[in-house]
Amino acid sequence: ISSSRVADKWIKTTCGYCSVGCGIVVGVRDNKAVTVRGNPDHPVNCGKLCPKGLSEHHILDAPGRAKQPLLRKDGKLVPVSWEEALTVMIEKISAVQQKYGNDSLGVISTGQLVTEEFYTLGKLVQLGFGSRNYDGNTTLCMASAVSGYKLTFGSDGPPGSYADMETADLILLIGANIADNHPILCQRLERNRQRNANSTVIVVDPRVTKTAMMADIHLPIKPRGDIALLNGIAHILIRDGLINRDYIDQHTTGFEELTAFVADFTPQHVAEVTGLSEESILSTAHLYGKAKAAFIGWTMGVNHSTQGAATVTAINNLALITGNIGRAGAAPFSITGQCNAMGSRESSFTSALPGYRKFEKAHDREELAGIWNIDATRIPTSRGLAYPDIIEAAVAGKVKALWFIATNPAVSFPNYPLLKQALESVDFLVVQDGFHPTPTSEFAHLVLPAAIWGEKEGTYTNSERRVSKVNPVVTPPGLARTDFDIFIALAEKLGVKEELFPGWTSTHDAFKEWQRVSEGRMCDYSKFTWQQLEDEGGAQWGGERLYADGIFPTATGKAQLYSVPCLPFVEQPNEEYNLIFNTGRTVEHWHTRTKTAEVEMLNTMVPNAWLEMNPVDAAKLELRPHDRVNVVSRRSTVRNVELRITGIVAPGQVFMPFHFAESNSNLVTLGAFDPISREPNFKQCAVRVEKFFKT
Ligand code: SF4
Repeated sequence: ISSSRVADKWIKTTCGYCSVGCGIVVGVRDNKAVTVRGNPDHPVNCGKLCPKGLSEHHILDAPGRAKQPLLRKDGKLVPVSWEEALTVMIEKISAVQQKYGNDSLGVISTGQLVTEEFYTLGKLVQLGFGSRNYDGNTTLCMASAVSGYKLTFGSDGPPGSYADMETADLILLIGANIADNHPILCQRLERNRQRNANSTVIVVDPRVTKTAMMADIHLPIKPRGDIALLNGIAHILIRDGLINRDYIDQHTTGFEELTAFVADFTPQHVAEVTGLSEESILSTAHLYGKAKAAFIGWTMGVNHSTQGAATVTAINNLALITGNIGRAGAAPFSITGQCNAMGSRESSFTSALPGYRKFEKAHDREELAGIWNIDATRIPTSRGLAYPDIIEAAVAGKVKALWFIATNPAVSFPNYPLLKQALESVDFLVVQDGFHPTPTSEFAHLVLPAAIWGEKEGTYTNSERRVSKVNPVVTPPGLARTDFDIFIALAEKLGVKEELFPGWTSTHDAFKEWQRVSEGRMCDYSKFTWQQLEDEGGAQWGGERLYADGIFPTATGKAQLYSVPCLPFVEQPNEEYNLIFNTGRTVEHWHTRTKTAEVEMLNTMVPNAWLEMNPVDAAKLELRPHDRVNVVSRRSTVRNVELRITGIVAPGQVFMPFHFAESNSNLVTLGAFDPISREPNFKQCAVRVEKFFKT
């Protein structure tokens, strides 16, 4: 270690990348973060970090940081003061709202803020600006899990814990490549094996992912076969008496309908739909049904689909009919994406009111109005538009001002040609981000420079409902301000500061009000203090697992079983577009690389995008390893991508990571969405591949 890297103080915080929520200790010298370590006392990671966590300090003083408010004048973004930036923002948005109505403002936030900022932003947008059209980029990520949980259990919230991955004797991972996306969770699989030599890990994934390579059994399912497989497992469990009849009778509704519905999902039929063998379907069902404790984990392979929410209910069905919920090792469990996607679900004002309250319930609105000392009629009675619908409304001229916070839709949103139209259509576009330029901020009329992880204080909630403390380790660069400060300054300018945020000067003030708002709710923050979160490595709201008493927050107190059909692809391959295009992540990069592109170590490990293609398809096209290719869909073309010829993908399928703006997979993805959750179908569209020629 060179002397310049020796820290003179060490500050505990939580990793700001993925939802695993690892404890991290940052070494600081002269207001510069010089190194990081995993926190050995943190219950989530016990001192381990993945490559992103290990290099996280490098993003703080990266050259690409936004340091100055910028306003577009005569077509160019020029530096302005905060006073001018915020005055113009309020004037422009007010003008748009006066002309077109309050809902003509669309706001898209993120899973990257601290919970206290989500809570503040929700009040500012819905009660201050008076727009209902507020959503998060979390709709691109976990909305299907949220919808599926609500449908089955009556509320959101992953029922299990990471500890269940250690004690289960059967782990079924569906559409979850944790080795790339949640790497530190892999140590739970290792510990499971150390504790129980007879446990089994089954991975269901169309690709031979790194996680599939770690499994005892890999089921290389055809894309879109998951509902058929889940229904087929339910069919075998019921047929072969591997169900928990007492649990079904006491705690569920819909079993007779489900039994009749899955009767057609025989092993033979499911084998035809999924491409799996009848034997593997049968043995998977028997392993699941005979396990003393069975755990099902899933991520984007399930959620990124036009049937994401339905698939989640089909997963929940299996847990309920076998009583694999509310016990050690037994849970259906969504593994979230971003570091604080869970915090936004709990506290923001997007698909639900804060504290998992419902817009539609008068009692919920009145309760909040009482705490906030406002008239309940100011709280909307229904949610506004979801993220994709805000974009479509912008294209249609109904949303006239857009405000993006810590998100980069020009790379992350499906069907880029449509998204570009939205960015170019609105009268006023604000991009608030820690980095500039980004492919999105280049379209902006106003850029607000924001602090990022390592520069602000608050809490994150991870995938297992663990609320952890986040601390500043350095001050923000240049004129950048925390998102909380920006929201409060806007509230001052709007004249609603003292009404909505009385006496607030810090995120701790927001935390204290959020504790009152969440008290008695599932996500009850009144049960812990910041200091406790700091000292104890966080605390799980709801305890280690939900629904241990078998009582669910539904009208009947019982969980609902759903009979869900398996629908065909929205976009079927044909002769012209003959390959199924799948997208995903790699362990070295994060989302659209606004952060990880700034880290030399990560860029050296993985500098560019690539396309995976099976040797059978490559031979038909006379392509060779490392050829440069174009990926063409009905919408657009990704040009000049490196080809990797590999058996990781099956014939008829291709795969590409979605991180790289220069090779933007969303040029070709389909803008089709789950009708319930509004989550996009990033993983299934039809493309063809051609050799790239320099022109
Ligand atoms: Fe951070 Fe996730 Fe890596 Fe842990 S697994 S260090 S939370 S990116």
